Amino acid sequence: MLIGRTAFLTGILQSVSENVDIAAPQTSVELIKDVNSWSFDIFHHLRNGGLFMSGRNSSAVAIEDVQVSTFTIPTDSPESDGTLKWDKTTIVLVHVTAGAKQGLGYTYADKATSALIQGKLANVVKGQDAMAPPSVYMEMWHAIRNLGRPGIVSTAISAIDCALWDLKAKLLDLPLVTLLGQVHKAVPIYGSGGFTSYSDERLAEQLGGWATQGIQFVKMKIGRDAQRDIQRVRVARDAIGPHTGLFVDANGAYSRKLALAQAEIFAHDYGVSWFEEPVSSDDLEGLRVIRDRAPAGMDVAAGEYGYDIFYFHRMLQAGAVDVLQADITRCGGVTAFLQVATLCQAYNLPMSAHTAPAQHVHACCAAVPLRNLEYFHDHVRIERMLFDGIPEPVNGKLFPDLSRAGMGIELKETEARRYAA
Ligand SMILES: [Mg+2]
Repeated sequence: MLIGRTAFLTGILQSVSENVDIAAPQTSVELIKDVNSWSFDIFHHLRNGGLFMSGRNSSAVAIEDVQVSTFTIPTDSPESDGTLKWDKTTIVLVHVTAGAKQGLGYTYADKATSALIQGKLANVVKGQDAMAPPSVYMEMWHAIRNLGRPGIVSTAISAIDCALWDLKAKLLDLPLVTLLGQVHKAVPIYGSGGFTSYSDERLAEQLGGWATQGIQFVKMKIGRDAQRDIQRVRVARDAIGPHTGLFVDANGAYSRKLALAQAEIFAHDYGVSWFEEPVSSDDLEGLRVIRDRAPAGMDVAAGEYGYDIFYFHRMLQAGAVDVLQADITRCGGVTAFLQVATLCQAYNLPMSAHTAPAQHVHACCAAVPLRNLEYFHDHVRIERMLFDGIPEPVNGKLFPDLSRAGMGIELKETEARRYAA
């Protein structure tokens, strides 16, 4: 008890020592002896500095500022999947400030997201309690009622919510996963890329490279040409050998009957164990058909376009997936990601985290039904370019850094400026 109280008082004293004229305590005995004489000064410093909000909740910390910046980074080569082509990626980054700490969150989304944050959500968030992210989340939820929740609106909320949780963890000087409640020591990843725009050589090099690194599962894109897809899956299997798990993602490009036919070949001839969006995610009945009739050992996965809890509930209710995917940069941040985890638990199904690996690690390790995290080529590259402190794979897993407060990542300001959008 003495240790706990001492640590608490020491934390307060350290946070105000720059402004209050006291020396840092040397021992617990000295601290207890002197704390009475300091307490008056400390209280007035905290109150005058705005660390305490008005009202009865003395632990509340008022949010002072919300800043948003946008960066657009060209891909390292043209990329495409079954239904989309792209040559650049935009990341919208949010910093939220309170109590002399700054939390960071981001989303991969359109630049319009930053306009929504600047023009509306920042004003909703300022003055709220940084110690209560779910409360701030609900304030944003109410404020956007007439704008429509899915899409840009939810990506904006996601980035802010992630920054709020990072901020709270930093205010408490805890790793985010410790604040959330750690369930898993680490999260298994799967290497993800294998774009339909790649040559066979590039496909083999990328997927084989992940396998050599000890990443036990890899995923490739399919869906442009059914016959060619079979050839490409063979190239991938040859590159990764017999013991690495192979996933495919059609991004909704196939019809139901084509998906069923391909599933047989992929599973029986090449050991594919995960078929993502074989048909459109909007076709819940179609996903259910594929799920029920696909070969044993092949999971059907979807959920990456889920922007609120109701979407995930509908997908689970329809029996559409074996694994539910959720993206912390779209679904509503840490707050909603953990809600989705609870839904999965209630349906007795595993959950998979979609892309943005650096921002997912802590939340994944606090999500009970978590199976894996997508180690997506584009985002791994961007996160390495823009952030310090990103986790690197160890034996095919990402571990949260328990030596750093919050998510443990910081923006590299100078490097990022080159890509300002
Ligand atoms: Mg996908």
